[in-house]
Amino acid sequence: MRADSTNTLRYLFDDVPAPGQLREIAPGVQWLRMPLPMALDHINLYLLEDEDGWWIIDTGIAVGPTQDLWEQVFAEALGDKPVKAVLSTHYHPDHIGMAGWLCERWQVPFYMTQAEFLSGLAFSRMQREHFSWTSALFLQQSGYSLTQIETAQKRWGGFGGYIKPMPTAYRRLVDGASLLIDGRRWRVVVGRGHCPEHACLYSEGLNILISGDQVIPKITSNVSVMGGEPEANPLKDWLASHERFLELLPADALVLPAHNTPFYGLHTRLRYLIEHHEEHLLALEEACLDGWPTALDLLPVLFKRALDEHSIGLALGECVAHLNYLHQRGQLARELNDDGQYTYRSIDDTLHLRLRRHRSELDDQPVMQV
Ligand SMILES: [Zn+2]
Repeated sequence: MRADSTNTLRYLFDDVPAPGQLREIAPGVQWLRMPLPMALDHINLYLLEDEDGWWIIDTGIAVGPTQDLWEQVFAEALGDKPVKAVLSTHYHPDHIGMAGWLCERWQVPFYMTQAEFLSGLAFSRMQREHFSWTSALFLQQSGYSLTQIETAQKRWGGFGGYIKPMPTAYRRLVDGASLLIDGRRWRVVVGRGHCPEHACLYSEGLNILISGDQVIPKITSNVSVMGGEPEANPLKDWLASHERFLELLPADALVLPAHNTPFYGLHTRLRYLIEHHEEHLLALEEACLDGWPTALDLLPVLFKRALDEHSIGLALGECVAHLNYLHQRGQLARELNDDGQYTYRSIDDTLHLRLRRHRSELDDQPVMQV
C-alpha cells in the first residue's frame, strides 16, 4: 500500500478540548470544538483575540447543544472582551449554522467571500419544490432508476433546518486581502472545489493557516457535482487550488483545520490529496476500458466501504466530479443509453502506458503498514 500522508503528519496535541472549552494554540489564537449530529461528529472553530474583542472563525451547526455551548463560552472564556466579528470560511451548515444568531446576539459584522455568502443564502432557503425535473434528470443521467429517483425526492430538503437565518449583510472577503487582528495580518487565501470560494486565513507572523475544509489531515473533503450545475468541473478547481497552495504557503506552517486536529505537514498533505485524486481518476479510466458503466455502477471503484443512504448522494456527486473531469479532458467518451443514463468509455490511447508506469512507480514506493 502506498504511504499515506496521515502517517507522516505531525499533530500539535494528542487529545482534543472538551466541547465548549477553549485551548490556546498560539498567543491570541484559541481552538474550540463543537459537536455535529453525524458520522463526522465535531467541527473545529477558532477564536482570534483582537485589542477590543474576539473574532469568531466558523460557527457550528444550528442543531443540538451548539447555542448552549456558545453561551457557556461567552460566560466563562472571553474575559472582559466582547465578540467583535464573525467569519465563515464557506457556506456549509457546520460553518455558517450559527452565524446569523451570533451576529444578531452581538450586533457585529459578518465576513465571508461573495460566492459563499450568496450560496449560503440560496441553499438555506431551498424547499422541497426545488426538487424539479432538472434534479430528477441529473440522478437519471447518473444511473438512478425511476424508483431510486422517487426515494431520493422523498428525502430531498434544503439545509435550512441546520442553519439559523443567515446574516442579512456581510463584508466581502477577497483573495489576497488582509485582515488586521491584534496588529497581525491574516491574509485571505481562497481555495475552490469543495465549494465555490472557500476562504482560508494565513498569518505570516505566526506561520499559521486556518484551513477550514480546504485542507484536512485525515479525511478527504467532498468534491461533488450536484444537480444544480450538472456540467460543473469542481475537481479541476480542487486540484488547481492544491497546486496554488503549494506555491503560496510554506511547508512548515501550522495548519488549523475544521475537522480532525491541528497539524504540521501542509505540503505533504496537499501532495497526498493531489495523488489521491489522480489515483481515483486512473482507476475510473481503467474501469471504463470494458463496457459502458454509469456513474452509479462506478461507485465501488472509488468507495470500498458500504455506503448508507446519506453518503450515497455525496459519493455519487464525487464520482460524477471525477467523470466530468475526465470527460472534459477528452479521456472518457460519454453516451446516453436507452434508459437516459450517461455511460462512459475510456478513449485515451495512452492509458495502458500510464497504468504500467503508475504500477511500476507503486512498486518503488516504501510499503507502510496501516
Ligand atoms: Zn464544507
